[in-house]
Amino acid sequence: RAAHNEEAAAKAASDTGAPTIFDKIVAKEIPSDIVYEDENVLAFRDINPQAPVHVLVIPKLRDGLTTLGKAEPRHTEVLGQLLHASKIVAEKEGIVDGFRVVINNGAEGCQSVYHLHLHVLGGRQMKWPPV
Ligand code: 5GP
Repeated sequence: RAAHNEEAAAKAASDTGAPTIFDKIVAKEIPSDIVYEDENVLAFRDINPQAPVHVLVIPKLRDGLTTLGKAEPRHTEVLGQLLHASKIVAEKEGIVDGFRVVINNGAEGCQSVYHLHLHVLGGRQMKWPPV
């Protein structure tokens, strides 16, 4: 099961501060399907989509934000930019009638990549609770 694999991957990953695959995506050393980009933020399609629209919104510069749990006062501007970029992505993708923004935090939160990212999900009826 895909869900089982993700949970296993999340448990295997940990917040070591090591560079992640997202550095290579930001540097365009590995390709990604970019939906939105500005000076501070990059948004690209998730390689393993969980909805018809599934876009990851990340700060180009991690600056200590391996997880949301590492947020400090100096990060508030980029945190706002990430949320605003999520709205721009939803608009561009035509999912303004309903979408979800998710941050998985830490192993128990099923985080697998330790570079802060917002999941923007839509294009189908979401369910609640998200389990
Ligand atoms: P997390 O599980 O940490 O909340 O989310 C990490 C996400 O990154 C997963 O949904 C996973 O599918 C996605 N991902 C991992 N590696 C890559 C990659 O190389 N390219 C893209 N586009 N997405 C990736």
